[in-house]
Amino acid sequence: MKIVVLDGYTLSPGDLSWEGLEKIGDLKVYDRTSYDLSGQDKIIERAKDAEVLFVNKTPITREALDQMPKLKFIGVLATGYNIVDVEAAKEKGIVVTNIPTYGTTAVAQMAFALLLEMCHHVWEHSEAVKKGDWTNNPDWCFWNYPLIELADKTMGIIGFGRIGQTVGKIAQAFGMKVLAFDSYQNKALESDTLKYVELDELLAESDVISLHCPLFESTKGIINKNTIAKMKKNAMLINTSRGPLVVEEDLAEALNSGRIAGAAVDVVSSEPIKGDNPLLKAKNIIITPHISWAPKESRKRLMDIAIDNLEKFLAGTPVNVVNP
Ligand code: NAD
Repeated sequence: MKIVVLDGYTLSPGDLSWEGLEKIGDLKVYDRTSYDLSGQDKIIERAKDAEVLFVNKTPITREALDQMPKLKFIGVLATGYNIVDVEAAKEKGIVVTNIPTYGTTAVAQMAFALLLEMCHHVWEHSEAVKKGDWTNNPDWCFWNYPLIELADKTMGIIGFGRIGQTVGKIAQAFGMKVLAFDSYQNKALESDTLKYVELDELLAESDVISLHCPLFESTKGIINKNTIAKMKKNAMLINTSRGPLVVEEDLAEALNSGRIAGAAVDVVSSEPIKGDNPLLKAKNIIITPHISWAPKESRKRLMDIAIDNLEKFLAGTPVNVVNP
């Protein structure tokens, strides 16, 4: 059985083994093939004889599937599977699976890494010390930014699912109050320090706003000039979910004008980030290159689930199928 991985590098840049898939079939792993349709011919060339295909962010279109007559299974190496034409796959009897959960704790931890960096500017203070600013300081300590304590502040979480709830637990451990906005409310989660609210109340009351809803038509651009106008002036925004949840021009404008205090984003509208993305030149923003999912522990979990998805499919008991 021929197994092809079209873009394996981000899952394993060399620190995870592909041996689990090697045991199942004749495996060929490409680091990357093409992240857009300009590479369609290369995608087809590499996958045309595959019976099993794994992709992370390589687009698999109906036209490409037409050229892959032996294909029976596509394993998406991520949660989001919008890169595969799942309807076309279904029509052709190709099972498509995803990895519904592998990085909950990693993404929640990253949201707090970003928040704590905004509160303490640890890296910038360390750099200042190394370049001599402490040595030459008249006092025994100094700080270059306002330092922020989180206890008693309010964290607004938009999208209170697996990751949102984990962020909520960490926030409560820091002594924060949590306001949750979700289209599905599990009232059993409410407590003295956690309640569900409507979006407007969350925007108006929160000192920190963290986005954890999926990217749907209904959530695209949920952070825009109108919703930003409802936020507190000291608000800090965190986005570890999906870039298009935020209208980046509006966020850049709000940061540059001091309308909100800061932002930290791990995801942007187009990745890798384009050179003219307005956030690159905005004030008071931290931008990281979509690393929330990527601790080794989290990627190992993803790899194990991907292998399990294929094994269960081959055993006739498929799981995590997104085009049933
Ligand atoms: P989840 O499905 O457990 O939770 C999503 C929550 O959002 C659900 O409770 C759902 O009811 C809610 N929701 C849906 N539509 C909504 C709306 N219109 N308004 C408010 N809430 C809405 O998903 P999860 O595992 O917590 O993951 C959340 C998101 O995190 C994913 O969709 C993905 O975009 C992102 N993510 C990012 C990374 C990364 O590396 N940056 C990694 C994994 C996941």
